[in-house]
Amino acid sequence: MRRPTRRYSILSLLKEARHGHSGWVEAWRKAEPRSSYDVVIVGAGGHGIATAYYLAKLHGIHNVAVLEKGWLGGGNTARNTGIIRSNYLRRESMALYGLSHSLFEHLSQELDFNVMFTPRGLVELAHTRQELAELSRIADANRHFGIKSWMIPTSEVHSLLPSLDQGSHKRFPLLGALYQPRGGFARHDAVAWAYARMASQLGVDIVENCGVESIIADGERIVGVQTSRGRIDAGTIMVAAAGESPPLLAPLGVNLPIEPVTLQAFVSEPLKPFLNPVVMSGAVHGYISQTAKGELVIGGGTDAYPSHSRRGAWPPIEDTVAAMLELFPFLSRVRLMRHWGGSVDITPDRSPLIGPAGPSGLYVNCGWGTGGFKAIPGSGFVTASMLATGKVPPIAVPFGLERFAAGRMIDESAASGVIH
Ligand SMILES: Cc1cc2nc3c(=O)[nH]c(=O)nc-3n(C[C@H](O)[C@H](O)[C@H](O)COP(=O)(O)OP(=O)(O)OC[C@H]3O[C@@H](n4cnc5c(N)ncnc54)[C@H](O)[C@@H]3O)c2cc1C
Repeated sequence: MRRPTRRYSILSLLKEARHGHSGWVEAWRKAEPRSSYDVVIVGAGGHGIATAYYLAKLHGIHNVAVLEKGWLGGGNTARNTGIIRSNYLRRESMALYGLSHSLFEHLSQELDFNVMFTPRGLVELAHTRQELAELSRIADANRHFGIKSWMIPTSEVHSLLPSLDQGSHKRFPLLGALYQPRGGFARHDAVAWAYARMASQLGVDIVENCGVESIIADGERIVGVQTSRGRIDAGTIMVAAAGESPPLLAPLGVNLPIEPVTLQAFVSEPLKPFLNPVVMSGAVHGYISQTAKGELVIGGGTDAYPSHSRRGAWPPIEDTVAAMLELFPFLSRVRLMRHWGGSVDITPDRSPLIGPAGPSGLYVNCGWGTGGFKAIPGSGFVTASMLATGKVPPIAVPFGLERFAAGRMIDESAASGVIH
């Protein structure tokens, strides 16, 4: 099934330029939907597409369609700020995000595509005693679980971040930081493209502009989906449609506890390199990194009300800019070049939903909120195994929907939110 990968040299790039760029091979096939598949995945975001790749690659299930109502990665996957880390508070989260982080280390080689994984380190600043205590608690949990992340004193923060304002007048004085040296970022859309290209080569159909309107059940079993391009039958269906998952499951009597909220991000004009690690601060409420090109990638808190809109309100923009100036006052005259929003799918405990839902054969992978980009390889790996075997792998069991009824929340509100 696998098509040969075409490689390009500088010479072939120049030749293509001379011929008006007419000879490029499509990265993934523009598939037409067929009437039935073994597995249908709803949503070609990172989680849907990675699951399809691992299904084909590791489990030999190639008769798979990923149905996307818009374009590949057009949801949150290509709208995020690309931050990758695994220093969460709960052991369930550390296991899942830790697996994902380790897969990111070799993802470019695995997918034969440069996803620009850049582990320059990640520093979460503590500005209050309470924050210091909270981050120290996370560092302790990380140490017990074997996640390489620890507290560093202010002197070390300043040597990692010489441009951070050190003034004694500060409203938010620096008390220390949680540091993960292998934290960093990757290029978000490259991750989606890389998985899509490989999945397509392995025979997966990626069908864009094909919205799923409803999920069809026959008694207690799932049998297919009704789409904007007709009915498609499948015995196994996974919904990975982020904040748009709940309305697809509600008619089947499954209520997903997900609230959609707008989250915005910003990119500045390029500057000379001054910022090596990613810097995050819960108290000032913002985070910042600098790309290889020199642009600053900046984010902050979510908008204050539920919304499916991808256009955010003004106050979070002002708050985020103020937060950055609190940390780096010399940025005051830097211009922001771009700004955008995504609608993130927040659960009550800030942890994702992975597992069976409702009629037999139906699964969900959603609720990733503000921090699901970093989880794409790990979640895809785990959910592919779940779909292939019908058994939920131990690492995913705690993330099942039943945790809310049973009161077994995986509360990550201290280690997520603005700390993506
Ligand atoms: C501004 C911003 C910054 C962020 N920063 C970070 C970060 O730094 N690090 C991090 O780890 N995470 C970050 N995130 C969160 C991260 O982007 C998401 O958690 C992650 O992308 C979720 O991936 P997904 O595949 O679940 O959803 P999505 O990428 O949203 O994919 C869902 C797909 O389903 C499709 N869909 C919806 N309904 C239907 C339907 N009925 N039929 C067919 N298709 C449908 C949508 O069009 C979409 O393409 C950020 C998010 C935003 C918005």
